[in-house]
Amino acid sequence: MPIYEYKCNNCGNCFEQLVFNSKEEKDITCSKCGGKKIKKVISSFSCLSQGGGSSLSGCSPKNGFS
Ligand SMILES: [Zn+2]
Repeated sequence: MPIYEYKCNNCGNCFEQLVFNSKEEKDITCSKCGGKKIKKVISSFSCLSQGGGSSLSGCSPKNGFS
C-alpha cells in the first residue's frame, strides 16, 4: 500500500497518508490544521522515527480514517 509520510510546513504536524496516484497527492491537506503547505517525508528522514522509538505511531493521532 502506497502510504507516505508528510509534514505540514504550517504547523509542523507529521502524518501518514494513503496515496493512490500523484493527482490525489496534490489534494492532500494537513490532518491537523488543514493546510496545504505539506511536503513528502522520505522514509530515511522520517519524522516519526525521531526520539528513538521503535513504533510508527509517533505523532500520527489518527490512523485509519482514510
Ligand atoms: Zn498543519
